[in-house]
Amino acid sequence: MADKLKFAFYWNASCGGCEIAVLDINEKILEVAALADILLWPVAVDFKKHHIEELPDKHIDVSFINGGTRTSEQKEMAELLRCKSKAVVAFGACASLGGIPSLANFHNREEIFHRAYIETPSTDNPKGIFPQVKTGVPEGEVELPLFFNHVYRLDQVIDVDYYLPGCPPTPEMIAAAVTAIATNSLPPAGTVFGGPSTVCDSCKRVKQEKKVKGFHRIHEIIPDPERCLLEQGIICAGSATRDGCGALCLNANMPCRGCFGAPDGVADQGAKLLSALATVLDSNDLAEIDTMINQIVDPAGYLYRFGTSSSLLKHKLAGAGESADQGVQAKQREVAK
Ligand code: SF4
Ligand code: SF4
Ligand code: SF4
Repeated sequence: MADKLKFAFYWNASCGGCEIAVLDINEKILEVAALADILLWPVAVDFKKHHIEELPDKHIDVSFINGGTRTSEQKEMAELLRCKSKAVVAFGACASLGGIPSLANFHNREEIFHRAYIETPSTDNPKGIFPQVKTGVPEGEVELPLFFNHVYRLDQVIDVDYYLPGCPPTPEMIAAAVTAIATNSLPPAGTVFGGPSTVCDSCKRVKQEKKVKGFHRIHEIIPDPERCLLEQGIICAGSATRDGCGALCLNANMPCRGCFGAPDGVADQGAKLLSALATVLDSNDLAEIDTMINQIVDPAGYLYRFGTSSSLLKHKLAGAGESADQGVQAKQREVAK
C-alpha cells in the first residue's frame, strides 16, 4: 500500500468555524483519516510546535491554514508550516481574504487596545495597563506574541498554493479539494476553488431591473422569496462575489454577504458592490441619493465584510512610530507586484 499522505491543520486569527467545517464533511472524515495521517490539528490532536519543528522540510504534503494573521505567533506558525509543507491551502475567507477579523484594519493597534482595555463598559483598568510583549515578573520575563497593527491574509505572509474561500468553505468544496489531493489531480498552483463567475449567476431569483428608493436591513421587511433581493432594497453582494456555494444564503432567503470574495477580474469587491448599489438607486437628485446612501448602516461592514485585507484600501495607514509590521508589509509588496 502506498504511503499515506500527511496533512496539517492550523488556525490563526479565526472563529473556529473552519475547524467545525472540516468535521462537517461527516462520514468523509473517515476517508480523510484513511487517506492521510494528521500531523498537527490543535483543535483535535495534541501535537506541539516542536513536533513540527523536528520534521524534515517539505515532509507534510498539505497544510490547511485558516484564519487571518494578527500576531507574530501566527506569522511564525505560518512560516514554519510553509517550510515543512509541499503545499499550503488558505482555508476559508479569513485566510484567503483577511475575513471578518480584517474589518479591524479600519483601526490601528493603539485604537484597538484603547477600545478593548479602556473604553469597553465591562473593563476596570484604572491604571491604563495594556498588554506588553515582554513583562518582568519575580520568576523572570514572560513574553506575549506581538499584536500587529493590521490583520493580513495568508498570502501576504507566506506563499500560498491554493485557496478555499467561504465562511466557512462548504463541505462539498472541502471534499472536492481532498479528493483532488488524493487522486493527484490538483489544479495549477494559485487556483481558487470555486467558480469563476458570480453568485448572481447561480441565483434563481427573478431579476426585473427594478429600482429602489432606499435600502432596508434584513429584519425590516419580509422579502419576496422569488425576486432579486437587491431589487427589493436589501443589500446583496451576489454580483460582487465569486460563485461556488450554489447561492447558499439566497436559498435560505438571506442576502449574499460576499464570503467567497471577489470573482476573477475584480480588483476590489467593495467597489464592485458599491457600483451594483448605484445601479439600483431610483433617483438623479444628489440630495435624495445622499439620503438613500445614508440609510446604509455600517457601509464598511457591508462592502468589505470578508476582505478588508484584500481591498485596495487594505488598512488604515500606520501612524508615526508604527513600524512593527514591516516584515509582513514587505511580503505584501511582493504579492502586489
Ligand atoms: S472563514 Fe468564517 S468560519 Fe472560517 S475562521 Fe473565518 S470567520 Fe470563522
Ligand atoms: S443580487 Fe442577490 S438576490 Fe439578486 S440575483 Fe444577485 S445573488 Fe440573487
Ligand atoms: S451566498 Fe454569498 S455569503 Fe452566502 S455562502 Fe455563498 S458566497 Fe457566502
